[in-house]
Amino acid sequence: MNDQTNAIHFGYEKDTQGTMAVPIYMSTAYEFRDSLHASNLFSLQELGNIYTRLMNPTTSIFEKRFAEIEGGISAIATASGMSAIFSTIVNLCESGDNILVANAVYGGTSTLTSHTIKRLGIETRNFDVTDATSLEELIDGKTKAILFESLSNPSLAVADFEGIVAFANKHNILTIVDNTVATPYLCKPIRLGCDVVVHSTSKYTGGQGLALGGIIVEGESCEGKIKNNLRYNHFNEPDESYHGLVYADLPFPSFTMRLLLCVLRDLGAAPSPFNSWLLIQGLETLALRIKEHSKNAMKIAEFLESHSKVKKVNYPLLKSDKNYGRASKYLTGGASGLLSFEVEDYTTALKIADSTDIFKVVVNIGDSKSLIVHPASTTHSQMSKEELLKAGISDSLVRLSVGIEDADDLIADLAKAIG
Ligand SMILES: *Cc1c(COP(=O)(O)O)cnc(C)c1O
Repeated sequence: MNDQTNAIHFGYEKDTQGTMAVPIYMSTAYEFRDSLHASNLFSLQELGNIYTRLMNPTTSIFEKRFAEIEGGISAIATASGMSAIFSTIVNLCESGDNILVANAVYGGTSTLTSHTIKRLGIETRNFDVTDATSLEELIDGKTKAILFESLSNPSLAVADFEGIVAFANKHNILTIVDNTVATPYLCKPIRLGCDVVVHSTSKYTGGQGLALGGIIVEGESCEGKIKNNLRYNHFNEPDESYHGLVYADLPFPSFTMRLLLCVLRDLGAAPSPFNSWLLIQGLETLALRIKEHSKNAMKIAEFLESHSKVKKVNYPLLKSDKNYGRASKYLTGGASGLLSFEVEDYTTALKIADSTDIFKVVVNIGDSKSLIVHPASTTHSQMSKEELLKAGISDSLVRLSVGIEDADDLIADLAKAIG
């Protein structure tokens, strides 16, 4: 089936009531048929529901559907995008290891990788996401993953997929792609040769700013990179914490199984079934919305580019944008709803953000409502001057998350605010 059919139907077999809408299974735990059934589930002789920290029928439908649309083989939903990223790192790294992280990433990912995991002994080495040649001098035997965003928030850099994938395959190392901004409708990293895709489903997937969520999708290529690879010894050796289980020997996707049986079990970043249900509703219309977000953003980018008080517009599908070449290659259906622009100075940027009516000052993206923010004083205020520069964020940058209101109304709103 094609994506849009899968987004409506995949992974849901109607229950005995014939319920058309996916039910919300609001339950912490599940009754076993008997003690043998219970012990079979714990020893993986059978797969089934045990406890909602590990699995839930509503969440499972969301996971199956999302994996299918991303072109993956399995997925694990988490409580938020940040917990998806943290859990993925924990699934691969221990103290003494390092990961290669793109210079242009979401603010939370930047602080997580540069500071929080550093305290756990995991080192981050930054590379230029638009030029994979910068990777070669960073890798060593302790490197466990390459983490980057397909289309970065908020600097809108488009990744050098071909270069990064070639490098990762040469060194037999896993790539983790945060595909939050592009969504699987504009970009499918697994089809481009990447191994793991993560999302903040709080953004475009939900689409109306209703629920936090994250997801981790395993691509088919993970298996081959993990099995018998010294880099991923902990998948190939018995796990003491799970009576000697060897994840790479299981007849199930090993990256997902370790994530579930070990990381989710111990970290507990499980989503609420209610949030999974909201995200299932969002997924049904994601394809339709992302087209409108992209169309509106393109119109606004062109308007801003022609405005005398705007110094620079960052939108990857503008011919003037430095990402245009990669954007036209990797972002086939549009460039999403995120754009940023630079004005005269800090004060002007703040004044614009405070002068719009339709665009609300909100630190979120992917909502059907249009949002505006000044990153240097908000989302990225915890970063140092050098870190900001590295991430391509200047003092006078304004970020827009263009919604799906009428484009002419949005342009009039910005025209008035810019003056
Ligand atoms: C928002 C966001 C995150 C974090 O997701 P939460 O759901 O807010 O925890 C991670 N990556 C990107 C690209 C984001 O935009």
